Amino acid sequence: MIFEEAHRLKALPPYLFAEIDRIIKEKKSKGTDVISLGIGDPDIPTANEIIDELCMYAKDSITHRYPSSYGLTMFKEAAANYYKDRFNVELDPETEIITLWGSKEGISNIAYAFIDPGDIALVPDPGYLVYNIGTMFAGGKSYIMPCIEENGFLPDLDNIDKNIAQKAKIMHINYPNNPTSATCGLDFFNKVSDFALQNSILVCHDNAYCDVYFDENEKPSSFLAARGARDVGIEFNSLSKTFNMTGWRIGFAAGNRQVIASLGKYKTNVDSGVFDAVQFAGVEALNNYKRLSGINIEIYRKRKQMVTALFDKLGFKYYKSNSTIYIWANVPEGYTSKSFAEHLLDKANVVVTPGSAFGTYGEGYYRISITLPDARLEEALERIQKIL
Ligand SMILES: *Cc1c(COP(=O)(O)O)cnc(C)c1O
Repeated sequence: MIFEEAHRLKALPPYLFAEIDRIIKEKKSKGTDVISLGIGDPDIPTANEIIDELCMYAKDSITHRYPSSYGLTMFKEAAANYYKDRFNVELDPETEIITLWGSKEGISNIAYAFIDPGDIALVPDPGYLVYNIGTMFAGGKSYIMPCIEENGFLPDLDNIDKNIAQKAKIMHINYPNNPTSATCGLDFFNKVSDFALQNSILVCHDNAYCDVYFDENEKPSSFLAARGARDVGIEFNSLSKTFNMTGWRIGFAAGNRQVIASLGKYKTNVDSGVFDAVQFAGVEALNNYKRLSGINIEIYRKRKQMVTALFDKLGFKYYKSNSTIYIWANVPEGYTSKSFAEHLLDKANVVVTPGSAFGTYGEGYYRISITLPDARLEEALERIQKIL
């Protein structure tokens, strides 16, 4: 029997890197040691104190029943305290914050809450793919905002077609950015907020990397700290990268209370909340964010310096950034993003992500993730140096 897939699955863009995946698999099956710099998934284990908190609450039967789809009050209070301390943004835990099954869940579900068939979402290119896919699944159309190096990888708001801007319902942005590692200041968030107010657009800012930064003076901000931001938008935040908790599935959205309520209304109908014991563990994480993120930052700082020092020595071009777990590098002359990634895999047994995986405007770049142990990263760099 053949089960006809729904249109929304059949309409997914073709997967461009099946060939790279095939070569990785083939190499691994032959016993070749392939090192992946491809995936942004922290190798550092979650802190013991967070795990202990999970274990303690998992044993307590108060956490064994259905959690609330809106989230545990204690978790949302911890998130509010974190926003006050970290960004000087005051939030009402009950109406302006909602717990998420990781921010990916919220980013895709926001489309179901606000996008009707034919509606437009403004999405960055290159960018995290969920902004576009979530929009598509809800029947909407993505309008691409090119984010190019000359503009510091920020979208040029003046360049957005006026009619499109008028019609658009949602704008997705993400700084510090995956994949480009670009950051922005509050001035850009202010511009986005003004633009959204003029055009009645809901801004969804993805702040997954706000606590991975290497210069105290360039500490990433929150969109919610921008003027009028709460009238026009929400921010997605995640415990995944900040606390090495990608496997735990926990994050939250904060901001405009009507939007938070609508997201909650949708969620009550499709999920039943995040395991309360995981949220209690999240409280422990957020309450100690300064110390815990500080430990990560020092590890990543060292790794990033390892990569950039070698790149500088070899004359490799890359985008200079003081944030994120990524290095966004220029493909050398004579290669495309894909052919360069294939070359590294073929000759050095090292996996990088071709920039074109993140959109048309990612062509000409490749992304390196530093989420692997120092010794492995060093080994990967030695292999790259040897073949070039
Ligand atoms: C990793 C990442 C997230 C976090 O996703 P979770 O679902 O919270 O694990 C969100 N946005 C971007 C751009 C990311 O790279």
